[in-house]
Amino acid sequence: MPKQELLNKYAQLAVNIGANVQPDQMVVIRSTTETKEFARALTKQAYEAGASKVQVQWGDDYVSRYGLEHQSEDTLKEVPEWLVNQTQHFIDEGACFISITSPIPGLNKGLDSKKMQTASIARMKKLSFFQNHMMGNKAQWTIVGAPNQVWAEKVFSDLKGEEAVEKLWDAIFKACRVTENTNPVDEWEQHNETLTKHNNILNDYQFAKLHFKNSLGTDITIELVDNHVWAGGNEHTTSGVEFNPNIPTEETFTMPYKTGTNGKVVATKPLNYQGNLIEDFWLEFKDGKVVDYDAKKEKDTLKNLIEYDEGSSYLGEIALISYNSPISNSGILFYNTLFDENASCHMALGRAYPMNVQGGTEMSQEQLEALGSNHSMAHSDFMFGSADLEVKGITKDGKEVQIFKNGDFII
Ligand code: ZN
Ligand code: ZN
Repeated sequence: MPKQELLNKYAQLAVNIGANVQPDQMVVIRSTTETKEFARALTKQAYEAGASKVQVQWGDDYVSRYGLEHQSEDTLKEVPEWLVNQTQHFIDEGACFISITSPIPGLNKGLDSKKMQTASIARMKKLSFFQNHMMGNKAQWTIVGAPNQVWAEKVFSDLKGEEAVEKLWDAIFKACRVTENTNPVDEWEQHNETLTKHNNILNDYQFAKLHFKNSLGTDITIELVDNHVWAGGNEHTTSGVEFNPNIPTEETFTMPYKTGTNGKVVATKPLNYQGNLIEDFWLEFKDGKVVDYDAKKEKDTLKNLIEYDEGSSYLGEIALISYNSPISNSGILFYNTLFDENASCHMALGRAYPMNVQGGTEMSQEQLEALGSNHSMAHSDFMFGSADLEVKGITKDGKEVQIFKNGDFII
């Protein structure tokens, strides 16, 4: 099958299952100039699904890099009113959002990380109403990936140019269940059912805590909030429209109690943050907060993440994924969280998702925080699953239930 046909199937998946574009709905697509081919396929598909208007917001990571390099800190901190108004306009129009991720590994190497942090915080502060809108599931949103050459050559270091790009497309299609012989939309409906089954089992247990242990040195206990909700796969907006925030997704995840994490976690995959790759790192928690950490590479970048704001040194998500999962089995390290997080159990530093607690999407920030939900402008997933990971759930009356044995779900 020619690539264009697979690309169209993939675009269909993002539009119909990912964002689930509704008739007469406005669609906002975020793309870089690296992925224009895919942005066009998405636009066409969105109109075919009945979109009233498709607005593509173009970015270019090289242009952004020059900006970060040459603009003064004061200029970088300016967030223009028109940007705020435009974002508010999308919300007022009831738009849904499709973001294409296509990172350029190493692009921001050598940049002043403090300056980058200042720029990012200023923007996040001014646009926090938008983050609330998205994370509170007030509209459908989805993130999908598309290759660029630098990224593809990083993933397949023995290949160059188009060859590497084609191979990364293949890997992405496979990871997303987009194949010649299948209808990915049907595949995803089935896949969502499996994820829902796992969520239901875990929701029935309502564990007080989870304990993780492996031979790499991970030995950590994570308390969960009361009335937590395990989610994963499809979600619903507050008005009841189904959507899939991530394509692909294999995870079932919930909300840690902000001050209830104790112990050490050793990462098993690199973490791409602010364009830099943090490698071989571990974190130690006490009463929920990171109190010690180290990284063989990009320790300063890890420090930026942990010190982003008050909440970025606490956990906002814990996710379970069998080691024996399609992305994990492919053996490919994508250097991109959207894919790699689905190959491995992970946790996120930063903000929790309101939907991970009963009634959460209807609560105010203060109400959520009172329940032990972490608040931050950051949310960064990192992977710690391994072939020998053991996970136990501890019930409120102290009973232990083995959830994972040798890296995989056994319940
Ligand atoms: Zn996750
Ligand atoms: Zn996450």
